[in-house]
Amino acid sequence: MKKILIIHTGGTISMKEDEKTGAVKPGEKNPLHDTTPSLKTLADIHVEELFHLPSPHMTPKEMLILRNTIEEKIKKEHFQGVVITHGTDTLEETAYFLDLTIQEDVPIVVTGAMRSSNEIGADGLYNLISSVKVASSDEARGKGVLVVLNDEIHTAKNVTKTHTSNIATFQSPQYGPIGIVTKRGVFFHHSPTKRVTYPIRQLSKNVVLLKAYAGMDDMLFDAIQTLPLDGLVIEALGQGNLPPKATKGVKSLLEKKIPIVLVSRCFNGIVQDIYGYEGGGKQLKEMGVIFSNGLNGQKARIKLLVALEMTNDDEKLQEMFMD
Ligand code: ASP
Repeated sequence: MKKILIIHTGGTISMKEDEKTGAVKPGEKNPLHDTTPSLKTLADIHVEELFHLPSPHMTPKEMLILRNTIEEKIKKEHFQGVVITHGTDTLEETAYFLDLTIQEDVPIVVTGAMRSSNEIGADGLYNLISSVKVASSDEARGKGVLVVLNDEIHTAKNVTKTHTSNIATFQSPQYGPIGIVTKRGVFFHHSPTKRVTYPIRQLSKNVVLLKAYAGMDDMLFDAIQTLPLDGLVIEALGQGNLPPKATKGVKSLLEKKIPIVLVSRCFNGIVQDIYGYEGGGKQLKEMGVIFSNGLNGQKARIKLLVALEMTNDDEKLQEMFMD
C-alpha cells in the first residue's frame, strides 16, 4: 500500500447544506473526516487539516503555505502521493501554482466537489476516492500536478472551471484530459510534454488582471497606475489584439517598467503577433508586451507572480512564458 497524504483546505467538498435555509457553508467539523475509513482499503492514509476556507478566500499566502507543507511532508515523512481537497472556484490557480513551484515528482492531485457533503448526488467522496487512486498510481509520477474530478485526470496547466454548477465543470479546452479513472483503475492516454518548475521561496509581488472589451480605452490603465503594481496580465481580444485607445495605457505602463503579459479571452488557442493595425499584436509585441503560450488569464497571473520572484528582465520573462 502506498503512503498517501490528504491535505484538506476547504471548499464545497468540506461543506454542508443547511436544510432550512439551503445555504451551503463550512461547519465546525469537516464532514470529510468521517469518510477517511472508507479510503483505508486503497492506501495508507494520513490526513492534515491545513485550512477550512471557501476557495474565494484563498490568497497567494495560503498557496505558499500549502506548497511549503507539501514539500516538507514529502521530504521528511516520505509520502508517495499527495491529495489536496480544495474549493472549485480557485482550484485551478492553486493547482497551477503548485505545478510551477513544487520540485518533487511524486503524484500530487487536487480535487473538489460541486455538491456539498449532505446533498443528493454529492460528488466529494467519489472524487476523493478517485484522487487517492491516481495519487497511488506509478504512472502518475512525473506528470506534474493533476486535477481529478468526475472520473477525469487533467493537467493543472490546462484545466479550467467551465460551468458554474455542473459536476462535469473541469475541462481542458483544446487538449482534453490526459487520463480517466474507472472502477478497475487509472488509465493515462497522454503525457505532458514539458514541465518547468521555479524554486521560489516567497510571493511578494502585486499582479492584476484586466479583460479587454470592445471600446476599451486607457481609463483602467490610468487607474491602476496609482496602485503599487509589479505586473499586469491582459486578457486580450482574439489572437492578441487590443482596441486602439487602450494602447496608450499599455505604453505608459511599459514606460514605467511594469511588465505586461498578454493572453487571449478566447478559451482555445494561443496569442501571436499577427495583426499590423493600431492595437494589433504586431504593435503590442514591438512595444515590449510579453506573449503567453496558451495560459488563461488567471493562470498567467499566477505565473507572473512566480516569474517576478525570479527576474524582471523582459527577455527572460518572455522566455519563461514560452514554456
Ligand atoms: N464556492 C465554492 C468554493 O470554491 C465552490 C466549490 O468548492 O465547489 O469554495
